[in-house]
Amino acid sequence: MTEPPPVMVNAYDGSRADDLPPATRELIRRREHALGRAYRLFYDQPVSFTRAAGVHLYDAEGNAYLDAYNNVPSVGHCHPHVTQTVARQVATLNTHTRYLTDPVVSYAERLLATHDLAAAANAIFTCTGSEANDLALRIARHHTGAAGIVVTANAYHGVTAALAELSPSLGPNIPLAAHVRAVPAPAPGLDFTAAVTWAITDLRRHGHGFAAFLADSIFSSDGVRPDPAGYLAPVADAVHQAGGLYIADEVQAGFARTGTHMWGYQRHGLRPDIVTMGKPMGNGLPIAGLIARHDILDAFGRDVRYFNTFGGNPVSIAAAAAVLDILETDRLPVNAATTGAYLKDTIARLAAGTPLLGDVRGTGLYLGIDVNSPSTGEPSGRLASAIVNAMRERRVLISATGPHGSVLKIRPPLPFAPEHADQLGNVLADVLTAAGAAAGPAAW
Ligand code: PMP
Repeated sequence: MTEPPPVMVNAYDGSRADDLPPATRELIRRREHALGRAYRLFYDQPVSFTRAAGVHLYDAEGNAYLDAYNNVPSVGHCHPHVTQTVARQVATLNTHTRYLTDPVVSYAERLLATHDLAAAANAIFTCTGSEANDLALRIARHHTGAAGIVVTANAYHGVTAALAELSPSLGPNIPLAAHVRAVPAPAPGLDFTAAVTWAITDLRRHGHGFAAFLADSIFSSDGVRPDPAGYLAPVADAVHQAGGLYIADEVQAGFARTGTHMWGYQRHGLRPDIVTMGKPMGNGLPIAGLIARHDILDAFGRDVRYFNTFGGNPVSIAAAAAVLDILETDRLPVNAATTGAYLKDTIARLAAGTPLLGDVRGTGLYLGIDVNSPSTGEPSGRLASAIVNAMRERRVLISATGPHGSVLKIRPPLPFAPEHADQLGNVLADVLTAAGAAAGPAAW
């Protein structure tokens, strides 16, 4: 039988607190005291970092950890072009978008040129991906006059009240809103377009109407579902035929993460109406935003005044422009494609030799690997968590995702090189050998 889903994948639960160094234990105690219960820490043995560079994070003793998890420092931790550009701008001018400044306009022009919407588009800047998605919902409701939203079964789209109630991955304590339908995540053998169409019909039947289909273009919290490229195009057609908007959430897949394209939706050859983006946009500076079809946004903008105090400020925009510079100068999209393919091959070879690993999915530097119990063949979140923790003990950082927490999630900064892929492969091979030998299949 499949294990029950975890409350949160790979979260520290205190069960190994006694094994931690005293300084780490003390920091956790103070953290819990000051920050309260809602926060979670990664790993059985939480790790404390003091600095980072490129694809490495360093603890207080100077030990290097290979970062195969973080997509925010997407062009590399503390990339000098970002740090210098930001330092220059913060010492020159930092204000809001109600004064005329050139950088926000120039950046918007540059960003829009990377997109393929069906019509001319405009950009709006926010500080977080959640704000971008929340605004996208408001725009979709304004455009359609309807409330109904379709998402996937283990979607995550952000922290606001409106987004929490359409993010099933937050668990049963936050029920989905009445105007939300969750369809199964794309999978081989599933007619995903038919599932979305059925959900749209159901929303209408219940009087909610249909505003938008909102989907992470790589379905990361659903366990990473990139293939086959193109499968989302008929979904976009169905959404448009039903009079709704296609909102591509590119917070995970955007900014060349998938290797072949700047945006995940472009891999599927579809034209969304709204695209939301965030995380890697400023390499760690809080900048996010959306672009939307001009005709839709124009009508919204006539009726609704938009101002976001920090959104699009010159310092955040400087970081975002530096990210676009580096993607070009360091040829990171090509690297994501080639190193990503090499890493996927390396892991697929390991998976072929062990019953613990199943399907290896991914595009560019975003991989998801199914972890199965060798005794039952069912997805095993417990085993995935054991692998993630054993890799952390060997100073390689990955995580797990999917509805059962059973999919290894590998999503390194884009300068990840073949030598880093080799290191990750060697450590994973060791961990798999140890996992197989230590307990024997029956224990899993
Ligand atoms: N959409 C997706 C697909 C995400 O993964 C996230 C963040 N994990 C968000 C939206 C929300 O972004 P933020 O945390 O910047 O609000």
